[in-house]
Amino acid sequence: MTVRLIEVRERVMARNDEIAHTVRSRLAEWDTVALNLVSSPGAGKTLLIERTLDALDGEMNIAVVTGDVQTQNDADRIARHTDRLVQAVVTGGACHLDASQVDAALAQVNLPETDLLFIENVGNLVCPAAWDLGEQAKIVVFSVTEGEDKPLKYPSMFKRARYAVINKIDLLPYVPFDLHAAMGFARDVNPNIDFFFTSALTGDGMEEWYDFLREQVGSGKRETASARACSCSTRCSELTPLASGVPLAASLV
Ligand code: MG
Repeated sequence: MTVRLIEVRERVMARNDEIAHTVRSRLAEWDTVALNLVSSPGAGKTLLIERTLDALDGEMNIAVVTGDVQTQNDADRIARHTDRLVQAVVTGGACHLDASQVDAALAQVNLPETDLLFIENVGNLVCPAAWDLGEQAKIVVFSVTEGEDKPLKYPSMFKRARYAVINKIDLLPYVPFDLHAAMGFARDVNPNIDFFFTSALTGDGMEEWYDFLREQVGSGKRETASARACSCSTRCSELTPLASGVPLAASLV
C-alpha cells in the first residue's frame, strides 16, 4: 500500500512538472516574467502585491493569480488595485497551487499584454515548495514577526527560493527577531539566496523591490538587480532608516 502511494505521488509530480514546463514555455513566448510568492500565512504577500500594483501602475502590465484554500478574499483585495482581471484559485483544501491550476488561470490572462505575473501561492511553507508552477523564481516572504529559524524549520522552501523578502521591518524595534541570524540561517540552507528588506505597510525598502521588478521585466535602466538585491555588504549602507530612527544597517552589522 505504501509503495503504491509513492508511485501515485511520483506520477502526479511528473505530470505537474510537464504542465509547468508548458506554462514556462508560454510565458517565455511572450516575455512574461512569473514570480511565485510563497510564505506562511500572514507574512504579507497580498499587501506586497497591492502596493506593487499601485506603485508600478502605468509602468508595466501586471497580472495576478492568487491561491487560497477557502476564500477569494485576497483576490478581491488585489482587484481593487488593478483594472485587470485577478484570477482567484480556490483550492478547496489543498495546501498549494499546482501547475494545472495556473495553466487554467492563464487561459484568461492576456499574456501578450502582460509583463509580470504574480502568483500568490497558498500560505504554507511546506507544500508549495515541491510544486513547480512554471515560474521564473520562487520568492519567499518572511516577516519579522515569525521566528528567525524558519529557514531551518522549512529548508526545502528556502532552498528552492531564489529571493527572500524580509517583510514588516518597521516592526524590528518591537520584536525579538534577530535579522542577522535569520539571514545566516537562510544562507545555511541556500547560499545563493538574495534578500530584500521591506515594509509593505510603511513603504520602507519598497523602492529596491520595485527596481528589481523593473529590471526583471527589462524596463529597468539602472544597475543590475544582483548589485542591489542584496548581500549585506552591498546594501547595508543603502537601507532605509526605520521609523524609530535606528538605521536598519545597525541591525545587520
Ligand atoms: Mg494573502
